Amino acid sequence: MTSQLFGRLARFAFGLALSSLLITSCGGSEQLAGATPTGVAPARVAATVVIPPTASPSPCPTLTPTASPSPTSPPSTPAPTLTAGQAREAHLAAKAQLASARAMAVVPMDRGTLWQWLAGFSAKTNQERENYIATQLFPTAGIEDVHLQRVLYGGAWGEQYGNWDNLHNVIGLRRGTLPVDQRKTIAIGAHFDKVTYPGRSANPGFSDGILDNATGVALIASLAQAISRPFNDIKFVAFASEEPPPYFNGSRLYFSEAENTAGVLCYLNFDVLGRGNMAIITGSANQELADIALGVAKETGVPLVWRPSSTNTASDDLMAQAAGLRVLAFACDGYDRLDIHVPEDNLSAVDQDAYYQHYVLALKILAYLDAWYAEP
Ligand SMILES: [Zn+2]
Repeated sequence: MTSQLFGRLARFAFGLALSSLLITSCGGSEQLAGATPTGVAPARVAATVVIPPTASPSPCPTLTPTASPSPTSPPSTPAPTLTAGQAREAHLAAKAQLASARAMAVVPMDRGTLWQWLAGFSAKTNQERENYIATQLFPTAGIEDVHLQRVLYGGAWGEQYGNWDNLHNVIGLRRGTLPVDQRKTIAIGAHFDKVTYPGRSANPGFSDGILDNATGVALIASLAQAISRPFNDIKFVAFASEEPPPYFNGSRLYFSEAENTAGVLCYLNFDVLGRGNMAIITGSANQELADIALGVAKETGVPLVWRPSSTNTASDDLMAQAAGLRVLAFACDGYDRLDIHVPEDNLSAVDQDAYYQHYVLALKILAYLDAWYAEP
């Protein structure tokens, strides 16, 4: 399907979200009961998920028009015959309707907890950040099967926060509810390492790497917390060693392994959020995914803009794209070169309101994509 055709269908489908179709039943509605966990405790906090009794592993595609056929129709009127193209268009519209309902129904994590998760990165070395993610953040978010993949850097970048060769990608997943043979994977990532470029700022000291990129890692953990029962498997990866040249060292290793790309529908990257508007980076963006994201943003009422690719926006999505995956890279438009890799990059560099907005929009986009890909 061409992106032009998709765009037309997507517009049609989003229009339908406001029109006369009703969802009769859908397993996509989930409600987190009780307060969300505050702080990051080592123990996993179980979220109670209330699933409607009609829920089945398959997201029910049944749609019912509100208007019933008129009983006064003359019996001689021949039933309209849909062409194959019209039938396909109707199917895609129904599918988009379900995905939209799913996106709007998903309940975000609360703002205070997200901020606490972000603040948990403060004043930690890269190795301490890795440990925080693997033992506290990911397990608390409900991410299962958390494990490490060692990234041997071997490069020449000087040690600033410990030995680069002792860092690991932190990997885990939310298991999908579809039967195994129908289930695919959505991959989501953000790098956790930080660097300081000497001399970039007049102020002495090291960057705390909160904008770049604790914001991305805390955000993906909060996605996992909220999307507790996805249709598809959702893989979460906090990448090591994105920053030191030749760059993207953790993601290069991860995406070089066939098992990490097989059956992966798309990869979403998050690098520097929480200032200004959320943005899609132009260079790697898959047009169909971007159309979906922009449609969800419109429906959610949160701005989503394009940001041109540059050396300041290059990130791990480039490794996913090079491995043949469809990609969307998210950042924000409220930072520039002098705002990252400098001592001023600490918790006070993040706008709490903007960050929460970016998180909510990311969650809705993920919920939409998960539901969209749950149907053929
Ligand atoms: Zn970064």
